[in-house]
Amino acid sequence: MSSTQVAGLTKAVHDLSITDNGTKQPKERSNIRPTHKPTSSTSSITKLLSKHAAPHPFSASAGSGTTAGNRIALGPHASSTNLLKKSSQISLKSQIPSPVKVVKKTTPLVDIGKYDGGLEADNVERGEKVYGDAAKELALDSSYGKPQHVEWRLTSFDIGRPLGKGKFGRVYMVRTKCEPHYILALKTLYKSEIVQSKVEKQIRREIEIQQNLRHPHVLRLYGYFHDEKRIFLMLEFAGKGELYKQLHKAGSFSERRSSRYIAQMTDALRYLHSKHVIHRDIKPENLLIGINGELKIGDFGWSVHAPGNRRTTLCGTLDYLPPEMVEGRDHSEKVDLWALGVLTYEFLCGVPPFEDMSGYNATYKRIAKVDLKIPPHVSAEARDLITKLLQYNPEKRLALDKVAVHPWIVKYQPRGHSNGDTA
Ligand code: ATP
Ligand code: MG
Repeated sequence: MSSTQVAGLTKAVHDLSITDNGTKQPKERSNIRPTHKPTSSTSSITKLLSKHAAPHPFSASAGSGTTAGNRIALGPHASSTNLLKKSSQISLKSQIPSPVKVVKKTTPLVDIGKYDGGLEADNVERGEKVYGDAAKELALDSSYGKPQHVEWRLTSFDIGRPLGKGKFGRVYMVRTKCEPHYILALKTLYKSEIVQSKVEKQIRREIEIQQNLRHPHVLRLYGYFHDEKRIFLMLEFAGKGELYKQLHKAGSFSERRSSRYIAQMTDALRYLHSKHVIHRDIKPENLLIGINGELKIGDFGWSVHAPGNRRTTLCGTLDYLPPEMVEGRDHSEKVDLWALGVLTYEFLCGVPPFEDMSGYNATYKRIAKVDLKIPPHVSAEARDLITKLLQYNPEKRLALDKVAVHPWIVKYQPRGHSNGDTA
């Protein structure tokens, strides 16, 4: 990749003085899989959106913006090449398409559900003002410095139902007050809590990385703004919520569904690696599902921009850690290949392959030994892929290009395209 292709991201990374020397606070790890916080909504978002059928809010920027039957059709997404180069010049205004082209005046509003008043309640209960260097560090506004900027603020949105609770604040379904009433997920982050957890740089990095990525299986961050106490992230709305919840409900996924998700993950990882972004924290909890059932990587908390550097920081959820990280050795983008193998196993079996309830050490040992036992119900093709990804030696792991054409992946690909409709 040429240096200009990553200019935007590289600059962002340099501006942030991002280092990866182990001074970050590791994400809290547990040997027990996290229990997921319930969202308060009971209504199905598919029903809501189907009832008030409207084009996907951002599809016009990428293409058609049409509706197909009861489903919201996502237009073809922006080309994944040269995006980082372009992204440094993209203003919020230019990211969001012209209203006239998108929605007919008669299009009914998409129902965003009932707001629970949580933002105001939170603002009283949690969050103090942040001063000094931390305040400067967290004064994040994507419109800043852009020639044709649109200034977003909380009052620019109608707030709808709560979608979930993140570590630093709540996430809501929102609709822009201005036409054509885009639907987004608005994620709040309390600055004081970020400072308390000493993750200012990590949060900035997550935001900068995510904003520069454009891929159908990478959750888009359209922009961000802040007030005295909070940072707000304008995220692509993932209509079908968390993949983890679906996996938990289903127990495990069928071979077909697993294969299609893994194909989509492979595609997204190929894109990320081509931009020299290592994800490092692939697991079901960090994956969301779009309105058409497509997978979206939604969390970049541990991503690094890795211009050829190998890094030794221990991070990621225990169950998804590769041997080189367990053993404290240097690691590369091949960590994501290992995690892809773990993910494939977990989709098909419902539990990660090296989970050991007796404690951290036992899991570490199983990972270091690659103590892999694949249950008999798993097909020979899937077994082959898992085994080729879960290789102790990172160099021996099946490359993403080869994963994409592996028989288990090819077998379940819908004709003519490689994503969507995984249900
Ligand atoms: P955690 O560390 O617990 O994952 P977090 O700070 O990373 O917290 P998120 O995972 O981004 O927060 O968001 C919390 C919840 O809000 C998610 O689990 C999901 O249910 C919901 N959510 C977040 N972003 C979106 C989105 N773009 N579309 C739909 N739902 C979302
Ligand atoms: Mg998360």
